Amino acid sequence: MPHTRPLSDRYGRVATDLRVSLTDRCNLRCSYCMPAEGLDWLPDDSVLTDDEVVRLIRIGVELLGIREVRFTGGEPLVRRGLVDIVRRTHEIDPTVETSLTTNALGLARVAGALAEAGLDRVNVSLDSIRRETFHAITRRDRLHDVLEGLAAARAAGLGPVKVNAVLMRGQNDHEAAELLRWAIAEGYQLRFIEQMPLDAQHVWNREQMVTADEIFEHLEREFDLVPAAEPRGSAPAELFTVDGGPATVGVIASVTRPFCGDCDRVRLTADGQVRNCLFAREESDLRTALRAGASDEVIAERWVVAMRGKRAGHGIDDPTFLQPDRPMSAIGG
Ligand code: SAM
Ligand code: SF4
Repeated sequence: MPHTRPLSDRYGRVATDLRVSLTDRCNLRCSYCMPAEGLDWLPDDSVLTDDEVVRLIRIGVELLGIREVRFTGGEPLVRRGLVDIVRRTHEIDPTVETSLTTNALGLARVAGALAEAGLDRVNVSLDSIRRETFHAITRRDRLHDVLEGLAAARAAGLGPVKVNAVLMRGQNDHEAAELLRWAIAEGYQLRFIEQMPLDAQHVWNREQMVTADEIFEHLEREFDLVPAAEPRGSAPAELFTVDGGPATVGVIASVTRPFCGDCDRVRLTADGQVRNCLFAREESDLRTALRAGASDEVIAERWVVAMRGKRAGHGIDDPTFLQPDRPMSAIGG
């Protein structure tokens, strides 16, 4: 058996949940994430190959105690090797939970293959079920494809299917209750996420952000919400039962109610950099070591060292807070 070391930091947290970004590219242009014209994508030769991604995942699982792998991006469904990467990840250790965070464009075509390859769950990002609002936020008229993708994921058994929504003032915040009613009817678990200062355009501002308190105000006009009994653990979402249950709704209040003290996540970017936090300003390069022929042990050691520098919190409220250089789409949300 290989020797396993935990990915611990100086504050006693242990990372067991690995978020793997498979690409920084995307086929939508959500206004809180990317500018209309897109971004300068990573050069092809800097992006890890399928073999390199799988090797790093294997090192994470076999040597560093990773128990959950979530594929994200950019849009992970635009990565050609996705199904194969999922299959090979599942083969490393079938007890490791695998999931996908996606905008669901094209999911209808591959949901069955992903489930067959061993994917456990999907999280679909959807901010509105009104065609015009969806088009305005994502700058693409593709709501229909997302709804088809969601239904295909549910049919393929990739559940519980979670839907993540970001509310924007004056754009879709008044649609919060409608979105929840729809999600409950469809059997999807809805979670609202506070908008974070991770947009490529750097236009986020606290006054414009729809807070968790405001989200509750919108929802409580129509629903009775009670904190759910189950312990939250390291999950970012605070869960509430809706109208006596069993349906629930989650709120991820990353900004106004940070949960950094319970964080168990570590991120790997598409170009092979470890980030110990979404908001980290430093990254640790594993790609260069990988391509220089380093052993698994050497790469694992670099990864362990990278985690030691994890800060206690994201510090959004510090006057000295600086948004990371890379936007969410390049880090892997
Ligand atoms: N393209 C995929 C998707 O949209 O699900 C995966 C990547 S996306 C960056 C991951 C998640 O980050 C999505 O749920 C999206 O809504 C969220 N996101 C993007 N920018 C954000 C921001 N500035 N604040 C909060 N959430 C954001
Ligand atoms: Fe693409 Fe996801 Fe960013 Fe929207 S949130 S632009 S779908 S990466």
